[in-house]
Amino acid sequence: MSYSSHLKNELTKIIPTEDCCIISEIAGLIGSCATIKIQGFNKIGLEFSGENPAVIRLVFKLLKIQYGYSMDIVAAKNNQLQQKNLYRGLVYDTHVASEVLFDTRIMENGSWSLEPVTTDKLKLMNNPCCRYSYLRGFFLGSGFMLNPKKNYQLEFIAGHQDQAEYISNLLKVDGIPASYYLRGNIHVLTIKDSEGISDLLSGMGALKAMLELENIRILKSMKNNVNRIVNCETANMSKTINRSMIQIDIINKIRKTPLWNNLEEDLVKLALLRIKYPTDSLQELGDRMSPPISKSAVNYRFNKLMKIGKEL
Ligand SMILES: [Zn+2]
Repeated sequence: MSYSSHLKNELTKIIPTEDCCIISEIAGLIGSCATIKIQGFNKIGLEFSGENPAVIRLVFKLLKIQYGYSMDIVAAKNNQLQQKNLYRGLVYDTHVASEVLFDTRIMENGSWSLEPVTTDKLKLMNNPCCRYSYLRGFFLGSGFMLNPKKNYQLEFIAGHQDQAEYISNLLKVDGIPASYYLRGNIHVLTIKDSEGISDLLSGMGALKAMLELENIRILKSMKNNVNRIVNCETANMSKTINRSMIQIDIINKIRKTPLWNNLEEDLVKLALLRIKYPTDSLQELGDRMSPPISKSAVNYRFNKLMKIGKEL
């Protein structure tokens, strides 16, 4: 099962308790996965369709609770979807269909537009409960989420640009950043910010998915920190070795001259330790001296050796 289906199955288990939210969720579902059918004079219908049977069953439940209507559900093989099943929910009762369209403000004052809700007629900007119900409905109808283990990406597929912009404005109310782009002739609104996705999931009520995402975020940030520390240690190590190579070079140069026999005993001791322990840091070399000396004392002695070496 794809990650999206897994998430959608969790979301379809949520049934809003308030009328305002049920209507908002139906509006989101109409906006993303329904078509309005005109059947001759004064007769209209609504047809919901999708690959996920749980989503169509949810539409059935919402219509039953709000309108006492039992929608017909049919399943058919879809040639365009590589023989996957396509589920359709049919509302062919003109009275019910028009009541739904009036309540969702798609049809108003006897006139109606085929455009899905793109203005804030349901006051979604002001009502968080309704806003997230609408977003949940819309996501269930046409949303997509990549497994967060791979990448952070959640998408809403809109019917046209205005609709994508409207959803983007709804998300903006809670500071969730989304970007719009055209993929072929599909209008896509994408959220790639992991914190934004987490906020949206919890707003929509997908608490299980939200916790999973949070765990992945924690693991990823721990991994990044460990990598940063390892990279940093590797960098320090190679700095130490590079410096050590230069020191050994100079020491060997001095050893080939009579100067070597005239060097102070401390300098000779240190020089020999360096040759024996090329990967030691200055502090580690200092600890090997007897008696031990500080890092800055080691540094001071190496500077002396370098100075002698350069004069050769
Ligand atoms: Zn509400």
